[in-house]
Amino acid sequence: MRHSAEVAIIGGSGLYDPDVLEEPSEIKVHTPYGRTSDLITLGSYMGKKVAFIPRHGKEHQIPPHDVNYRANIWALKQLGVRRILSSNACGSLSEKHKPGDILVLDQFIDRTKSRPSTFYESGQVCHVSVADPFCPELGSLLFNQGTSLGIRIRQGGTYVCIEGPRFSTRAESKLFRKWEADVVGMTVFPECVLAREVEICYGSIALVTDYDVWAEKPVSADEIITVIRANVDKAKRLFGKVIPMIPEKSGCDCGNALANAIL
Ligand SMILES: [Zn+2]
Repeated sequence: MRHSAEVAIIGGSGLYDPDVLEEPSEIKVHTPYGRTSDLITLGSYMGKKVAFIPRHGKEHQIPPHDVNYRANIWALKQLGVRRILSSNACGSLSEKHKPGDILVLDQFIDRTKSRPSTFYESGQVCHVSVADPFCPELGSLLFNQGTSLGIRIRQGGTYVCIEGPRFSTRAESKLFRKWEADVVGMTVFPECVLAREVEICYGSIALVTDYDVWAEKPVSADEIITVIRANVDKAKRLFGKVIPMIPEKSGCDCGNALANAIL
């Protein structure tokens, strides 16, 4: 293929601009699932070929439940991407996670309802394992490099993915806390699982913007925007540190996810 990339960044809320990439060019990738969230930017960063997609589009015009997750992941696979780093804004379900904190996710709970969530719809049966849905190698890199940057970052965290676009009720939020989940958001699923289905490593950081409704600590839109800006700055620095350190040959099993999955 004329265009290619090794690593991709899927930018969440606030992360729309791959301004760190050298010699950026925008391309359109056609997929059997329709349009990607936006044009894909290709460029290089410290010797690595990198692709960037803003999950909600550059103008933040696509709400979480309408993101064409399959087109995005399919397009990245077509480009040859083997590692994805993603950022996801979220609300905290615990006093332990304060606005501005970052969690390297290691589990999710799916509470979505209406999203196409597999590439295997008919004709081929595939039960891919997502017991550990995130790439452990990318997770360690994200945590270690985050720590070295002095960012408040935590290794591991369970993310409840709600359908949206509405937020949770108080009862739902309290229930998620009883499930011992750490954060709640609208975008990790099915993106994470689709990456596994095409054997791409997927590492994700959850950026805490505020406390979810259980905490009864209402915040203004201005306060949230200030936190999102600071979080996006941290995410960019962190991805910038991690990308050159991703080893050529992976030490995880994500690349063999389909070995025993297809019937
Ligand atoms: Zn992996």
